[in-house]
Amino acid sequence: MASSPTSTRFAPSPTGRLHLGHAWSAAIGHALARSAGGRWWLRIEDIDTTRCRPEFTATIHQDLAWLGLIPDDVLVQTSRRDAHQAALDRITDMGLAYPCFCTRADIAAAAQAPHGAQAVYPGTCRNLDRAEATARARAEPHAIRLNVAAAVQRTGPLHWREGNTPTQADPSIAGDIVLARKDIGVGYMLAAVVDDAHAQITDIVRGRDLLDATPTQRLLQALLDLPAPRYHHHRLLLAADGRRLAKRDRAETLHALREAGIDGPSLAARLAELPPHGPDLVFHL
Ligand code: GLU
Repeated sequence: MASSPTSTRFAPSPTGRLHLGHAWSAAIGHALARSAGGRWWLRIEDIDTTRCRPEFTATIHQDLAWLGLIPDDVLVQTSRRDAHQAALDRITDMGLAYPCFCTRADIAAAAQAPHGAQAVYPGTCRNLDRAEATARARAEPHAIRLNVAAAVQRTGPLHWREGNTPTQADPSIAGDIVLARKDIGVGYMLAAVVDDAHAQITDIVRGRDLLDATPTQRLLQALLDLPAPRYHHHRLLLAADGRRLAKRDRAETLHALREAGIDGPSLAARLAELPPHGPDLVFHL
């Protein structure tokens, strides 16, 4: 069977300026695509219209141009609303989705998450009476969640490939994830898998902070009959004081390095050579 040509993507959200960790993901994905004669996509993950800003999209383009990483294709996620909705409808028609009326505070209280931790949804609205939930959904704003246990029953056990290693996927770790947010009508997990398949992405390169999203994304791929890409989660870069790099730290953005006169292509080349596995590390410019 002919395998698809290698395609990778860099998928930043324009909610702030990119930092060195983003440049690293982009450089690894770009090098992987180039070495295989494949394609490297830029996907602007702008579905969260409450937080994304056009000026950050503009800086993403400028930062990548400065690094010398030029995408072969660009996909803007907000242009894909119909495809996201079609996927949501499909899962709803399978009877695997339900409306959720909980607020963030409700969920945190019910899940008793430790302070600051991301609460796993305890399933409060999963067992609402169906007629009552449908009636409420007509009148009240709500999110739509995936019934993960029922979905897993339908697909059976799943694996994803981390590099060449088959890895068992346990989607229950993330709980009944949001397929469509109350405020924006779509959710990251669903949009990501639908758009990865649309671009025929074969290899997903991203930081290991997104590792926990992978079992759920594998489940959504299986439900929607989408191909299973290979994943390459890399370790994270740390600031000099050992903190994780964050978009809010202005001094460590690519924009700041660009303004400081650092040579972008040499930086990208050095990052692409950095071993992706091992403990998180401080990168010295
Ligand atoms: N947009 C996500 C982020 O900026 C990345 C999503 C992904 O690579 O799947 O963290």
